[in-house]
Amino acid sequence: ECPCLAGSGLRWLPAASRHAAGCPSPSFLLVFDFDYTVIDENSDTWIVKCAPEEKLPNKLRNSYQKGHWTEYMSRVFRYLGDSGVREDEMKRTMTTIPFTSGMRDLLDFIGKNKDFFDCIIISDSNTVFIDWILKAANFHEVLDEVFTNPATFSGTGYLTVQNFHTHHCAKCPKNLCKRKVLEEFVDKKLQQGVKYTKIIYVGDGGNDLCPVTSLKKDDIAMPRQGYTLQKMISQMSEDFDPVQSSVLVWSSGIEILSHLKLLIKE
Ligand SMILES: [Mg+2]
Ligand SMILES: [Zn+2]
Repeated sequence: ECPCLAGSGLRWLPAASRHAAGCPSPSFLLVFDFDYTVIDENSDTWIVKCAPEEKLPNKLRNSYQKGHWTEYMSRVFRYLGDSGVREDEMKRTMTTIPFTSGMRDLLDFIGKNKDFFDCIIISDSNTVFIDWILKAANFHEVLDEVFTNPATFSGTGYLTVQNFHTHHCAKCPKNLCKRKVLEEFVDKKLQQGVKYTKIIYVGDGGNDLCPVTSLKKDDIAMPRQGYTLQKMISQMSEDFDPVQSSVLVWSSGIEILSHLKLLIKE
């Protein structure tokens, strides 16, 4: 039996000490955004490569309303279906998306160190795209769970997508509050007896700020250099309202990997 669960207080020890004492629970929770974090593109934009002439009609492109991304993507998928674009073609196109620099090495490393790391994705993309991309690259087993908008192909071959959940957060798009997802996941693990010593959140976008502001002082926010999340976190510091967690800016997955190596040695 795990000595942590036996109440020895081991779960508060550094990862290496816990493991030396035979604790099997991962100490660290890694949370990844997907678009422009794991992959170096927006998957919802990349799918437009399947459209006739690789573009959307202006009317459709201009129909997006702030906070209603899922509805917009539903219209895009309907247009692709109406244009005769089928599942196999979409899959072929989506699996050519480049990974962000160093991310393949990082995910390989995490996969080899699952004793230390639980790893989840929270993304505003959809289940179909993320499954295709992770499976094609052989990374699906690195992830413990993927939280994203549920998508499926209808009987007539159209891709359809739904909102991930409903929430009451005023800061987030209607279909997804990543903070709520993260908090529910951490609560669920706590009920299973897993208490993470550190949460590490890796992302780039504006919708990653809400979960990042829920991190505590022992956690680490890892915003991508030069992207919206990093700018928002910097602005908060300038406004004397800094995030509670430490902040580590990255440009390549290799920098994240180096930091994880330090963490498991501690
Ligand atoms: Mg992103
Ligand atoms: Zn939120």
